Amino acid sequence: MPRALVWFRRDLRVADNTALHHACQFADEGVVGVFVASEKQWKQHHDAAVKVDFWLQNLAQLSAKLEKLNIPLLLVNSDTYADCPAAILKVMQTHDCHALFANREYETYEVRRDRAVRESLHEQGLTTQLFHDRVIVPPRDIQTKDGRFYSVYTPYRRVWDSVMRDYLEVRETPGKQKTTGIKPSKVPSNWDEFEQVDESISDLWPAGEKEAERRLLDFLSEVEGYGTGRDVPSIQGTSRLSPYLAAGVISPRQCVTAMLAAHPAAIEKDSGVGVWISELTWRDFYTHVLWGFPRVSQDRPFKEKTDQVDWRLDQQDLLAWKSGMTGYPIVDAGMRQLNQTGWMHNRLRMVTAMFLTKNLLVDWREGEKYFMEKLVDGDLAANNGGWQWSASTGTDSVPYFRIFNPFSQSKRFDPDGLFIKQYCPELKSVPATQLHDVNKFAKAASGLDYPSYIVDYKEGRERALAAFKAIR
Ligand SMILES: Cc1cc2nc3c(=O)[nH]c(=O)nc-3n(C[C@H](O)[C@H](O)[C@H](O)COP(=O)(O)OP(=O)(O)OC[C@H]3O[C@@H](n4cnc5c(N)ncnc54)[C@H](O)[C@@H]3O)c2cc1C
Repeated sequence: MPRALVWFRRDLRVADNTALHHACQFADEGVVGVFVASEKQWKQHHDAAVKVDFWLQNLAQLSAKLEKLNIPLLLVNSDTYADCPAAILKVMQTHDCHALFANREYETYEVRRDRAVRESLHEQGLTTQLFHDRVIVPPRDIQTKDGRFYSVYTPYRRVWDSVMRDYLEVRETPGKQKTTGIKPSKVPSNWDEFEQVDESISDLWPAGEKEAERRLLDFLSEVEGYGTGRDVPSIQGTSRLSPYLAAGVISPRQCVTAMLAAHPAAIEKDSGVGVWISELTWRDFYTHVLWGFPRVSQDRPFKEKTDQVDWRLDQQDLLAWKSGMTGYPIVDAGMRQLNQTGWMHNRLRMVTAMFLTKNLLVDWREGEKYFMEKLVDGDLAANNGGWQWSASTGTDSVPYFRIFNPFSQSKRFDPDGLFIKQYCPELKSVPATQLHDVNKFAKAASGLDYPSYIVDYKEGRERALAAFKAIR
């Protein structure tokens, strides 16, 4: 009689969980859950303390929910992915499980890990079933006419739009399973390898499926204003669901089906609903790119020629950028938001990433790494996609000569300087008219406890243009 093991990874939920759903259908002798903590590997991947703490808080909630379904959640340690096959095999043998169920991960190391686990189980006569679950349309299901992966968003989006509804089936939440007599593991209060996260940050991201659903519900009633509000960092114009989507506390299918049910007539591309769904399409697209072009997850640019750019590795500039001390108010406010909350508004992710890679000409990989070390929603596909877009090295990236002017950006998206002043309180006395002008601002800020420009705007821009023009 079969018993199933469900390996939870970045799918920390009970609702609409494809692997869990299939495991419960398969097993008539009970279902066991497992989470493998690979702290050393997470460190190597630059996972943020705030993110792995968020996983931990969600694991506690998941364990309690699973217990109500008679599914014990076990926590096992495996320092690195190399130890995973032995760790999983041991759980399966100890608890008499016949088949492993898990939702696919698409990053190179995770794919290799899963292959090794599958092979080791196969040798013992045990089966593995992997499911597409993290995105709406699985990466391989959208291909160009000649069978390649898309490298440009717009044609990808066209196909995505035409097939998306075929992938929206939300899985039923399983009912009570047969009891196993296995005790769930105690979920620890913190990880050994990671520093404790300040409550002022973790309180911003309460764990649990209920919280994710609440955020989604709240957002459903505000989505009309998303088309314009999403670019204004001083208001809550976006869903703030990214940590929940990244950890799989809610699925993208749940998001889109709820949105379409609430606003059945509003799917046009320029409506708030349409624009929001297109952001989830970007999420799918970057996973498609990661799967189709694995080099992007191996520190290499999508546009291989751009590796010839003579990137700088100026530690002083990098440090000033990281700590929000560049002298450019909107850049500093964005970086301070990241450092203080574990999250940054999308507009500012673009502004700060472009500032680092163009105005400072610092290697995009340094910025990508720092974001991963700080973001509660850090996701290799979306982060790499965003960085390579900003650095003009990626699939669909901004042309190298279209460099954001930080002052025009703040004038447009933070006209009253509300966001800037929230994160740079030393600029409170500077009138908005002087915040958005490179010359007036330098004068207005000269007596304040705020750094002067670490790079001259024009010189930095010219240096970046020259570096890209030098590529052969
Ligand atoms: C340099 C850079 C780095 C980024 N790093 C990450 C990252 O590590 N993790 C991450 O989830 N997003 C990343 N993004 C994308 C985007 O900034 C965040 O998803 C968004 O700010 C999250 O806020 P929200 O949940 O309120 O989004 P909403 O605007 O409400 O969007 C809904 C969801 O769509 C997805 N999404 C939105 N925009 C994008 C996008 N441009 N690319 C891919 N998915 C998107 C997210 O899952 C988001 O939660 C990055 C963008 C840039 C420019």
